Amino acid sequence: MVASHKLYIGGNWVNSESGETFTSHNPATEKPIGVFQKAGEGDVERAVKAAESAYKKWKAVPAPKRGEILFRFAGLLRQNKEELARLVTLEMGKVLGEARGDVQEAIDTAEYFAGEGRRLFGHTTPSELRDKFAMTVRMPVGVFGVITPWNFPIAIPAWKLMPALVCGNTAVFKPASDTPLCATRFVELLEKAGVPKGVVNMVTGPGDPTGTVLVRHPRIRGISFTGSRDTGEFILRNAVLKRVGLELGGKNGIIIMPDADLGLALDGVIWGGFGTTGQRCTAASRVIVHESVRQKFESMLASRTKRLRLGPGLDAKTDVGPLINKHAVEKTHKYVTAGLSEGAKLLCGGKPYGKAGYFYQPTLFTGVAPDMKIAQEEIFGPVVSLISVRNIDEAIDVMNSIKYGLSSSIYTADINAAFRAIQEIEAGITYVNAPTIGAEVHLPFGGIKQTGNGTREAGIEGINEFSETKTVYIDYSGRLQRAQIDVD
Ligand code: NAP
Repeated sequence: MVASHKLYIGGNWVNSESGETFTSHNPATEKPIGVFQKAGEGDVERAVKAAESAYKKWKAVPAPKRGEILFRFAGLLRQNKEELARLVTLEMGKVLGEARGDVQEAIDTAEYFAGEGRRLFGHTTPSELRDKFAMTVRMPVGVFGVITPWNFPIAIPAWKLMPALVCGNTAVFKPASDTPLCATRFVELLEKAGVPKGVVNMVTGPGDPTGTVLVRHPRIRGISFTGSRDTGEFILRNAVLKRVGLELGGKNGIIIMPDADLGLALDGVIWGGFGTTGQRCTAASRVIVHESVRQKFESMLASRTKRLRLGPGLDAKTDVGPLINKHAVEKTHKYVTAGLSEGAKLLCGGKPYGKAGYFYQPTLFTGVAPDMKIAQEEIFGPVVSLISVRNIDEAIDVMNSIKYGLSSSIYTADINAAFRAIQEIEAGITYVNAPTIGAEVHLPFGGIKQTGNGTREAGIEGINEFSETKTVYIDYSGRLQRAQIDVD
C-alpha cells in the first residue's frame, strides 16, 4: 500500500470533491509510489477563491518581508536537499547527481528572488514639465495559474513560484501528473517556511480538466506554463487576454568546427545529448559537425555512447536513467523507426532496454539530413543525430532550420566563428565551448520562435512575467500642466 496525498487549498490538505485519484510510479521499476487527488472544476474553483482572498493581504506585505519567507524556504530546501534529490530520482528517474542539481537550482532560485524583495526596481526619469516627478513601480498581477512539467520537478516550480510570490501574487499550482509527490513535498516546505494560507494552493490532476479549467478560469489573471509546444499553443488560445508566459520545447544543436578541441566537444555532446536521458528542453539532439572532422568525431562519440551505463538513477554506477513513462519509450522508438526509414545510419542503440522500467538505449544516428524528422522534431529522449556540414554558413543555416529557438552551442577556437554564431544563431541561448545545457539562475532563460511567446524566466527578466509596470506622475506645481501642450 502506498501513501495517499491531498490537494492543498487555503492552507488545508483536502480530498478532491469527486474522491477520484491517480497513481504516480517509479519509472525505473514501474512500481507505484503514491496516490493523488484528481482535482475537478469545483476543486480548482475552491483553490482560486482561496488565492483571491489571500491576495489583498499578501500584496500588502512589504516585498523584503516576502523575500524573508523565500530565504526561509531556501534554507529548508538546503536542509532537506538529499531527501528531496532522492525523491526526484524515485519519481522522475534522473540520476542522483542530477537530482541534487535539480534541488540546488531551486535553492539558488529561492535565494536569488528572495534578494529581489529588496530591489524590485522601477525607474525614474525627468518629466518634460517643471515641478513634476515621473517614475515606474512594479505591481503584482493577481492570481497566477502555474502549470509545470515533470522533467525538473523541483527547479521549475521554484522558477515560477519564487518570482510570483516576491512580486506579491498568489498562485494555484498544477504540477505534472508524473511528479505529484515532488510537488507535494515542495508545497509542504513552502507551508513550513511560513507562506500564509491561500497564497500558494496546489491542485493535482490531469491536463484536462485540472489544467484546462485553470487556463480558462475568468478570475485567474496570469498563466505561467512550461511544457510542450502543442499544450503551449492550446493555452495561448484558451487563456485569451490573460498574461501568459510560455516556456516550450527545443531542438537544440551543437556546432563542431574543424579547430574545435574534440575531446572537450565529446564531453559536451555526451552531457548535452544524454544527460537527463535527453529529457531536457535544452538537450542537444543535433550535432552539426564540420565534414573534415566528422569521421574522427563520429567514432569517438560512438565509442563513448556505447559505454554509457543504463540503470536506475539511485545506482551510483548509472550514467543514464529511465525515460519518464511508457509513452516516452514508444515516442522515442517511433522517432528511431522514422530515422531508419528516412535513411539515417544507426551507429548504436535504437531499442528499448530491460524487462522492467522505461529504459531506452542511448542512440546515435549519422548521415542525418537536416530535414529528416529526427533532425526537426523534439524527441525528448536519448537520441543524438550527426549532421555533416561544409562550412560555418551551412552550419548556421542548419542550426536555424527548425521551428524552435531555445539553446545552441559552438565548439571552436576561432573567435570569428564564435561571434558569427552569437550573432546569427536564432536562439535564446548560445554557448561557446560548452554544451547546450547548464543555465544559471541569475541569467534570463527562454527561447524564440516556437519555443515561447517572448517571456524569459530566471534572472532579472524573470520578474517581468510576474509584475505589472505602473507609471506614476507626481505634479507638485500647484497648477494644471498639460503634457505636449504647455511646451514653453
Ligand atoms: P506537457 O504535456 O505539455 O505538460 C506540461 C504540463 O501541462 C503538465 O502539468 C500537464 O499536465 C499540463 N497540461 C497538459 N495538457 C494541458 C492542457 N490542455 N491545459 C493545461 N495544462 C495542460 O509537457 P511535458 O511532456 O510534461 O513536458 C515536456 C515538454 O516541456 C517538452 O516539450 C520540453 O521541451 C518542455 N520543457 C520546456 C522547458 C523550457 O523552459 N523551455 C523546460 C522544461 C521542459 P499532465 O502532466 O497532467 O498531463
